Amino acid sequence: MKNVGFIGWRGMVGSVLMGRMLEEGDFKGYEPLFFTTSNVGGKGPEIGLPIPPLKDAYDIDLLRGMDVIVTCQGGDYTSRVYPELRKSGWKGYWIDSASTLRLDEDSIIVLDPVNRPVIDRGLAAGTRTFVGGNCTVSLMLLALSGLFREGLIEWLSTMTYQSASGAGAKHMRELVTQMASLAGAAGDLLTDPATTAIQIDEVITRELRDPSFPSDNFGVPLAASLIPWIDRPMESGQTREEWKGFVETNKILQTKEPIPVDGICVRVGAMRCHSQGFTIKLKKDVPLDDLWAIVDKGNQWVKVIPNDKDSSITHLTPAAVNGTLTIPVGRIRKMLMGPEYVAAFTCGDQLLWGAAEPIRRILKIILEYLS
Ligand code: NAP
Repeated sequence: MKNVGFIGWRGMVGSVLMGRMLEEGDFKGYEPLFFTTSNVGGKGPEIGLPIPPLKDAYDIDLLRGMDVIVTCQGGDYTSRVYPELRKSGWKGYWIDSASTLRLDEDSIIVLDPVNRPVIDRGLAAGTRTFVGGNCTVSLMLLALSGLFREGLIEWLSTMTYQSASGAGAKHMRELVTQMASLAGAAGDLLTDPATTAIQIDEVITRELRDPSFPSDNFGVPLAASLIPWIDRPMESGQTREEWKGFVETNKILQTKEPIPVDGICVRVGAMRCHSQGFTIKLKKDVPLDDLWAIVDKGNQWVKVIPNDKDSSITHLTPAAVNGTLTIPVGRIRKMLMGPEYVAAFTCGDQLLWGAAEPIRRILKIILEYLS
């Protein structure tokens, strides 16, 4: 029986991964071993099976005994352990949610509904490092996988509306704390029907600008505001989050002719769903009905939402999509710039398809390959 080591299973991505694996009955056919960086000898997750106490995630000898290692622990852990493990001659499969190894020549970015042939070719060629992609990129590729598969996209601009969870667990808490703080400031004004919206706005604006407003993690208010900057600056004037759009898309798809992907990435006050507005330049004019059909057939999770108000506000929002694997794509229409220009909007759970689900699925694919 193969040995599979899990590191980072209690973090945000790791716990979503554990939840999905339990739901899908994935803890069978191999020997799971759970590791920790902080609680050696402690109790591991409930997986419906007896498991030994937690092992030391820095114990290279123990890690060397694993056929597959799944880590959602983060980039610092990967940078510290991965090189040492490989240097020791370990030839096992490394599956990682951190970005550290994404652009390594020897790694494949996994998103199997979109790049299964790339993964299969990699496995056959001896690739042993598989990394989950950037959440925004993965959600965009799933939404538009039909158009990519048909080779219809000449270039793509994506304007994002990214949730707090992408920044980490503390940021999610801070968003809600900010909301509570605003509600507290509005206080009785909200319940008194005689107050005007302008009076409430004045109080909210004062609160947002108060130096004691809770913003240790974001640095600025997100609730009742937005943050038009994610990650660090690049020389191109892009943020790193924006830079990943082009680089990761083309690595995931292993395009021969790189497809330009660019846009502005913005943090908004959603909890765990990233939304994106697309401007798509097609290589040719395709009738709208055909486009809908191509997008809808992209993969089993994509769902085309009719371009009307009720459908859009009901099905195409973080409130509707949160916690589900569905990738709704709506607002699909031709743009005024010409018949090859198409607008679309999508929304997806960034902890599921943006992080845990591609990791869960590549583990299954590798275990099937090894059996
Ligand atoms: P996280 O929640 O900070 O968890 C990472 C580790 O922190 C845990 O495995 C745990 O390790 C330790 N930890 C310390 N205090 C904890 C607490 N109170 N609750 C839970 N864990 C605690 O990290 P994450 O957001 O899941 O991200 C993990 C990796 O995935 C990162 O490289 C990240 O960039 C990447 N990623 C994240 C997202 C996202 O949306 N957040 C999306 C895609 C990829 P021990 O059990 O060893 O102490």
